Amino acid sequence: MSVALRILDDGAWVSVNDERRVAVSELWRVPRLSFCDCELSDLVVEGFVDVGVDGRTVETRLYGQCIVCGQSGTTGWLPVGRIVDGEYRDLDREGGAAPTGPTPADT
Ligand SMILES: [Zn+2]
Repeated sequence: MSVALRILDDGAWVSVNDERRVAVSELWRVPRLSFCDCELSDLVVEGFVDVGVDGRTVETRLYGQCIVCGQSGTTGWLPVGRIVDGEYRDLDREGGAAPTGPTPADT
């Protein structure tokens, strides 16, 4: 079983088996980015750099900006989806590890 992973339109899309599945301009919630100091970053995806598969997990490296602190850079490998029975399934990139309680108002 193999999947065809490709980056299209100069990094604007990740294509899985010739279908455009992951787009830039999404906001991803990512813990501990390599290029900034935030515990939990809100990352605006600006362009995909690389895509690969590790076991059944589809991963990508991308260029983006953390809107919490304003730093931009290229990430390490981040999981974006899974291959289940030969089909691509999205991971929940915006929910995930984030706490759901009220935001602390400490400013
Ligand atoms: Zn940050």
